[in-house]
Amino acid sequence: MYFNYDELYKSLKLAMDSIGKYREALPEMNKGLQDAMVDKAITSATSSVVKYFDFNKIMDGVSKTLEDTSHKFSKILLLYGWPPHQEMNINHMIEIIDLQGSSEIKKDSISELINSKFLSFYNEKRINKMLTSWSSKEWLSKRIPILRECVKAHINEMYFVSVPALLPQIEGIIADGYSHKGKMNGTDLSDYSKRLLNNANRFSYDSVIQDYFFQFVLATFEHGKTINSFLSRHAILHGGDCSYGTEVNSLKSLLLFDYFQDKFGFASLPNTRVYHKQGCGVITKFKASHSVDTLTIYNSVQQAEKDGKSHCGYCINESDRKLETLISVVTPNKTNGILNS
Ligand SMILES: [Zn+2]
Repeated sequence: MYFNYDELYKSLKLAMDSIGKYREALPEMNKGLQDAMVDKAITSATSSVVKYFDFNKIMDGVSKTLEDTSHKFSKILLLYGWPPHQEMNINHMIEIIDLQGSSEIKKDSISELINSKFLSFYNEKRINKMLTSWSSKEWLSKRIPILRECVKAHINEMYFVSVPALLPQIEGIIADGYSHKGKMNGTDLSDYSKRLLNNANRFSYDSVIQDYFFQFVLATFEHGKTINSFLSRHAILHGGDCSYGTEVNSLKSLLLFDYFQDKFGFASLPNTRVYHKQGCGVITKFKASHSVDTLTIYNSVQQAEKDGKSHCGYCINESDRKLETLISVVTPNKTNGILNS
């Protein structure tokens, strides 16, 4: 059999460049999408032994398909009142997109089927795992007793208790994360949320979560008038909504809180080139003496370093940083690893 080694070398180089390109995109995707990407890459690589010139084209197609899938999935969830969450994988996405595309299923039934999927996926074990991850974070430690009871109430089907206990925690961590001092009005909260949920990457759910938060959680409310949201923080906490206590609302609140807290992995002080783990003494000291919110927040080591920051030698050691980088490649958008002790 004749082999053209020059051509083979060129094609392998092309394939390696392509892998490098997609490796850069990997940290921005969620775990489900990564798995799908790796599966497709293996299949594509196998076929590329025969048609190796097409590798780059195939991977471009795969990436575009996954991007479209992720985008459609998050938009459908918004339509049916669910916040997208990183734990859901590509199979869930496809199932939900197929449901929405079906002409035989009525909208109410689609809504019920989506609810069932979420409720069965986020079972007691998965919710407890979430709590374990929160508990490992020093900066959340003062809230853990509250969060533990929220989870306990959720598991024990006490949804009238879990929902109003969870919703204010979102504002609480935003205030902590940005070192806010004084009253936080609606504009402040809205501005912080926009700053926090600012990842414009094609695989990020930030913009949909932002829409979700404004449309449903921060929905306006006046006593005696129709409540225009199933999860209005104002309507629930001011006692206007008396029918919010459902398993669905409780799970939505848990997932939303999880998404927000995950965004606050690391922070950088103004005019410095260093980033710190939330809870580092340097950050705590700064927060105690500054009333102006000038912290830059990062949800991963990679995001901070992409912004030109170096790690703090006090709260992050080099081997931990390398491990965290590795973890963020495997489980992007999550910082639940070595550094959260
Ligand atoms: Zn530090």
